[in-house]
Amino acid sequence: MSVSPVEQWLGARAGEIRGRLIPGQLLASVTWFRVGGPAELMFQPQDADDLALFFQLLPAEVPVTVVGLGSNLLVRDGGIDGVVIRLPMKGFGQVSHLGGTRLLAGASVPDKKLAEFAAKHAIAGFSFLTGIPGALGGALRMNAGAHGGELKDLVRKVFAVNRQGVQLELSLEDMGYAYRHSSAGADLIFTGAELEGTAGDEDDIRAQMAEVVAHREKAQPIREKTGGSTFKNPEGTSAWKVVDAAGCRGFCVGGAKMSDLHCNFMLNTGDASAHDLETLGESVRAKALAATGIKLEWEIKRLGKFVDAPIEPFLGKES
Ligand SMILES: Cc1cc2nc3c(=O)[nH]c(=O)nc-3n(C[C@H](O)[C@H](O)[C@H](O)COP(=O)(O)OP(=O)(O)OC[C@H]3O[C@@H](n4cnc5c(N)ncnc54)[C@H](O)[C@@H]3O)c2cc1C
Repeated sequence: MSVSPVEQWLGARAGEIRGRLIPGQLLASVTWFRVGGPAELMFQPQDADDLALFFQLLPAEVPVTVVGLGSNLLVRDGGIDGVVIRLPMKGFGQVSHLGGTRLLAGASVPDKKLAEFAAKHAIAGFSFLTGIPGALGGALRMNAGAHGGELKDLVRKVFAVNRQGVQLELSLEDMGYAYRHSSAGADLIFTGAELEGTAGDEDDIRAQMAEVVAHREKAQPIREKTGGSTFKNPEGTSAWKVVDAAGCRGFCVGGAKMSDLHCNFMLNTGDASAHDLETLGESVRAKALAATGIKLEWEIKRLGKFVDAPIEPFLGKES
């Protein structure tokens, strides 16, 4: 009889864990692309203490991955070995006003809700978040940004749990922010943050938020199965210009396509596999390098195992 990962890794102490333990959770159900195989075990802790205890019990050799709302993720078809942590709204989805222009928010608060809450308290600086479809944890890791703003402008303190089950508080400096990157320890799960904006006027803030939404509606395929910007902007240019120059607007591999509307967005047009999407991305990188000499870097995070062969760029015409 096969032993479940819960018995294998937590044994008799599994009962001490208060959160949900879900063996074999299909990750396609939690990613925007709607692709991705199963997590060997998904864990949704009830709170930071529960997460810390879980890590204290989990054998050190079991790999751990964290996912947020899956809006910047390409999970491969073979799924993810070990434990996938997903912080639920209950326990991590609260936001509160600390007074002045400071907020305290849990890692599962959606970016849009954060922008809305700041507007209600006349706190400026959060409007850019209204168009980003992730939650705070992913935004902290990615230094998410748009329209001239980024997370690092708002962060004062970040709360985290490390792989040993120790709860930590990080400063802005500890987060080591750069463009769409944080160099804070890769094992850290961010559980929340203290954020600070500037004093503003609610009507002005709401007008800015409406502009952000209007721009997105026009310029991005926001209702499609996508992962947002596929590649980071290279020094001195925009990734979409490089993709366009390589002739890849509308380029397809299987059910995966570079959007006609915003050609740095990959789409799952219906039945794409993660393999199709990653092959498309690698093919665009190869074509862009040949056409422009620019090496595009993935902004989307790719996680997990291949089912079949690893990726071979496809350089031909439409498949
Ligand atoms: C239509 C669309 C538009 C987008 N526009 C923008 C944009 O304008 N600007 C922008 O920056 N991004 C944009 N994105 C990408 C994405 O929304 C952001 O990167 C977002 O911050 C990711 O948050 P998430 O919760 O979805 O994280 P996920 O995609 O689930 O994860 C992203 C990364 O964060 C890590 N992570 C998630 N939660 C935690 C946590 N609690 N602790 C530690 N690490 C964690 C994951 O391991 C992964 O490495 C867009 C995406 C889409 C689909």
